[in-house]
Amino acid sequence: MTGQSRDLNDWLMEQKCRSLVHALEHRRFTAVYCPTVRDAADAVIAAAESAATVGFGGSLSVAELDVQPRLAEMGKELLDHGRPGLTPEEKMTIMRRQLTCDLFLTGTNAVTQDGCLVNIDGNGNRVASMIFGPKKVVIVVGRNKIVDGDINDAYLRIKQKASPPNAKRLNKKTPCAETGFCADCDSPDRICMVTTLLERKPRLTDVCVLVVNADLGL
Ligand code: SF4
Repeated sequence: MTGQSRDLNDWLMEQKCRSLVHALEHRRFTAVYCPTVRDAADAVIAAAESAATVGFGGSLSVAELDVQPRLAEMGKELLDHGRPGLTPEEKMTIMRRQLTCDLFLTGTNAVTQDGCLVNIDGNGNRVASMIFGPKKVVIVVGRNKIVDGDINDAYLRIKQKASPPNAKRLNKKTPCAETGFCADCDSPDRICMVTTLLERKPRLTDVCVLVVNADLGL
């Protein structure tokens, strides 16, 4: 992409991101437009100010903000079940604690331009924490997650662009991790066990969506 094409694409995506922010606000979420990844990282740090515990849902989008070192420096307890070297029991303990942490950080698999958040999960721990339990939830949404279409298109996006590479990343023994295509498998390793749709902000959860004008995650 040439410089001018890139600038025009950034401008176009800014309009889409800003329109999404309005749609999310209409659905009672707090929503913030972040022009850059650094702005999104700073917004996460600001949201963590009064949190003692910060949970991580295993999102690549959040990982790409690289906020963990900054949060650790602030003295936050980081609840990350993806840390290397953990036993299955330790992972389970961390995932349970994420359900009641002060601040939960996650991405989303897809969001429609009119503000519906669609997610597919294997264990369900990530989507459960997005809905109820943590005092505050921050959802980091890269512009590549915005879908022109309805929730069926969002579901399709996940099946085509997110689940197969996620299965590969997580070393799952699924057909999609081999071929790159969803086979609606019945594998014990299937990562598509639970599908959630957030149509409005869950009543008892403080949810802030950061809409970032950059590609983040899968
Ligand atoms: S249903 Fe199975 S094959 Fe399809 S994306 Fe999910 S894990 Fe992969």
